[in-house]
Parts: sequence; C-alpha cells; structure tokens
Amino acid sequence: MRSVLAGAAVAAMGFSACGGWTAWADNRPAPKGPDEDGTKPALVKIAGEGMMDSHAFEYLTELSDDIGARVTGSPAERKAEEWGVAKMKAMGLENVHTEKYQLWRGWTRGTAEGELLTPTRHKLHVDAMGWTGSTPASGAEGDIVTVNLFDLDNEIKNVSRLKGKIALVTKKGRPNKESIQLFVQLGDFLKAAGPAGVIAVIGGQGGGKSFGMNLTHTGILGFDADFAIPALSMTAEDQSQIERYVAHGITPRARFNVQNTFTNGPVETANVVGEIRGRENPEQIFIAGAHLDSWDLAQGATDNGSGTACVLGAADSIMRSGQRPRRTIRFVLFTGEEQGLDGSFAYVKQHKSEMTNHLGNLVLDFGQGVVKGFQLGGRDDLVDVFQPFAKALSNIKPIAVDDKVESGTDTLPFSIAGLPGINMNQDTAEYWYTHHSAADALEAQKPEILAQNSLLMALAAFWIADRPERFASPWPAERTARMLRAQNEYEELKAFHLWPFGELGGEEKSKPE
Ligand SMILES: [Zn+2]
Repeated sequence: MRSVLAGAAVAAMGFSACGGWTAWADNRPAPKGPDEDGTKPALVKIAGEGMMDSHAFEYLTELSDDIGARVTGSPAERKAEEWGVAKMKAMGLENVHTEKYQLWRGWTRGTAEGELLTPTRHKLHVDAMGWTGSTPASGAEGDIVTVNLFDLDNEIKNVSRLKGKIALVTKKGRPNKESIQLFVQLGDFLKAAGPAGVIAVIGGQGGGKSFGMNLTHTGILGFDADFAIPALSMTAEDQSQIERYVAHGITPRARFNVQNTFTNGPVETANVVGEIRGRENPEQIFIAGAHLDSWDLAQGATDNGSGTACVLGAADSIMRSGQRPRRTIRFVLFTGEEQGLDGSFAYVKQHKSEMTNHLGNLVLDFGQGVVKGFQLGGRDDLVDVFQPFAKALSNIKPIAVDDKVESGTDTLPFSIAGLPGINMNQDTAEYWYTHHSAADALEAQKPEILAQNSLLMALAAFWIADRPERFASPWPAERTARMLRAQNEYEELKAFHLWPFGELGGEEKSKPE
C-alpha cells in the first residue's frame, strides 16, 4: 500500500518534471498587479468605502441579535436566508435569489443534563454534539468507563462490555492511526455503541480536552453523519476530574438526560446568491462566499457570522464605490457547511454545466482574527499571479500567499472541481475558544478587524474579476487529482467518501517516463 507521504513525493516529482506549469520563465510576461493592469483606480475607490464606511459590523450585529443561532434546516436558518436576501436586495445586488437543496436529515437540540453521583456529587457541564441522539426520556445512570481512542479496533470488538455504562473517550499510549482515520473510526465506535446499549459517549473532542474555561464545543462527527447514541462534549474541568478519579482506581457514576430530535426525512435549505454582473464578460463568475449557518450554543457570531458579514460588507463597499468589474462577482452565503460543506457541494453540483465559466471562490471562515494570507486552494500556478496583488495591499497589512488546499470549509468543493478554492487564512488564537461554543457571541469580534477583513475580501474579489486576463479556469481532473494527493488530501477525502477521482493521479510510478 502506498503511503500518503510516498504519494506526495511522487506527485511532487511529476510537477517538477513538467516545468512550464509554474514558472513564468521564457516567453510569458511577468504577472501584473493593480499598479500595471489598470484595476487600481477602482480598488482605491472600494478601499475608501471599505475603510471609512464599512457596514460589516452592522450586518454582524443584526445577524447575531435579530436571528442568532441558525442550524441548517431550522426555522432560524430559514429566517437567516430571508435576511440575507433582504440585505443583498437593499444594497442593490442583481439576480438575488436562493438556491434550494436537501439536507439528508434535520436535527434539533433539546436538553443535555448531567450529574456526577459518585464519588462526589455535582452537576456536569455537557452539551450534545450535533446530529446525535437521546437517552431514554427520563435519563439513565451508569458507571463511567474509559474507552481508548488509540485502540478503537478492540474497543469496537469488545463493545458489549460497555452495556449500561457511560463511555469516556480518552487517549492512552500512542496513536495507531492518522488523526483523520481516528476521527472516522470514532464514528464507527459510536455506531456500534448505540445498539450495544451504551448510555452515552463523552468525547466531543475525540478524547482531547475542551478549549477554554468551562466551555463545551458542539459540532458534527463526520460529513453528513448522524448517530442514535448521545455523544457529549464536556467541559475540560469536569472531564479532567473524572479522569483523575479513574486514574485513582475509582469508578465514577453519573446520570445523564439528553434529548434531541431528528426529522424523519430530508429537510430543505438554500444557499443565498446575489451578483454584481460583469461589464464585459458577465458569464464568467468569481465567487465571494461564506457560510450563513451556525451551531446553536450561542449566536454564531464568529462561526460564521464574521464571514457572512465580510461577504455582505464587501458587496456593499463595491456597490457604493460605483465600480463594476469586467466579470461577474457572485456573492454566495452557503448553508449546511457545519454538516459537511453541504451548501458548497450542492452549489458545485447545481452549477456543474457552468463550472467552466467559474474562476474560483474566496471564503472566510476562521473566525474573528485578522486575515494574514490567501491560500490558493491547490493552484500553484496562480501564486505568482496573485503575488503582485498581495503586494499592493502592503499599506493595509502584509499578506502571505501560498497554494495550500483548505479542506475544512466551502473552499473544498471548488478545489475538487479544479478551481482555486481560496481560503482567507486568519489569526485563529481566540477562535479556539469561541468555535462552536457558548462564547461564540458578538463580543468576540472586533469591528475594526472585521472591517479590514471585509475590505480585503472586496479588493481580492474585485481584482480577480476585473483584471484584463482571466484569473483561472478549471484544471482537468487528472491534474487536480495529482494536486490533491500531493497536498495529502487523498486519505481524508477517501475516508469520507468524497474522493471522486478513483485511481486518477496516483499511478505515476507505473507509467513509463
Ligand atoms: Zn465555520
């Protein structure tokens, strides 16, 4: 079996053997930035609007306070779609509409109560992970028994020993698999634990500790994954105490009452779309996007109200600048991101026939921190092209550029389509605390950072859509497959059944030179 690293080495050789791909050597002219390509006067006007009169924080405040938590497929999320449509129309975007699709199943959080019964008695701070199930209606009590994340093969085999007990996921010894494989296998364990009569599984962080003081962090446990058993995120303080008891040979006993509801079938949701139509090539489209849906322990201000506000703020700044790019900028608020990038996958599917007219997408989804770079989603051929634009931002801030693929947000479906799924990389230090937690509230976002991030999104989207030369066209599947393997995405995508390329891009070794 070929390892991920071996695959990367092979693909890297493939790249270097084919010199013309990356180098601007020989006869191609050096890429032009805003100073040389004629885009600068328009960018200066947009920057003026974005710096002096940004509406991004107003949008974020409205979304946080008027709507708040908006889990995909819920009435609140529907309300957020209507809000997004209204904002886009009010600022004068064209072709504003929603694009419906189905989420495989809906889910609603009920209650999650926990109490430690022995050796001390106190409330346990827990919240259910998304799309996980319930205890019996009146709750259930049992001994807490540890389960080793690094030995899930045996834990699954011996799952019957956990009947009537509460499983606490811990990490003992050394990992026996890549972290992504462990995450997938934790799902297998949850699937086995339900029918085996396990009361609940404590392991929202997969055996790791919750970030922050007394915080839980919810989230989905796979792509479009649901589990009948209640899986719980517990605060680090409570979880550590239980672990200390276990380490001292004590078997703690606890009671949980967790109630959540699933819908019987799929639920409808929709991406929200609006455009600034291109003045010369309106059929060519570049997307500026972020996800509108959120989790439900707080307002979803940083995940991803911040991104939503960036997109709307960017659209608004461009509109008020009076500038119209050569090609169309399509602003898309995706839903279903938190359940497995469902909205962006649905978008790529629904627009399959016009993907050749797409130039890529640009996404902000790493919380409240300042943007420090642009990751061009696998397109190493575009790093040199983008560099002069990044340099032109130096009065705002220094910006790094690389070709990294970001698979954790709505960039991924575009990278898989061979387009630059561009991730706005942010300083994420405080995001670890607000991420999917009760601290994900408006207080976490500094208005001036949001305004700057929104401006950077506006400038990048406009420049890409407006520059004389087309920024990007989709790569052929084989080149994309090779790139994804080289960026170590193969194992993860394969594990989650998202790898569409079969053996493509993985056979370099057997091919004659
Ligand atoms: Zn997010």
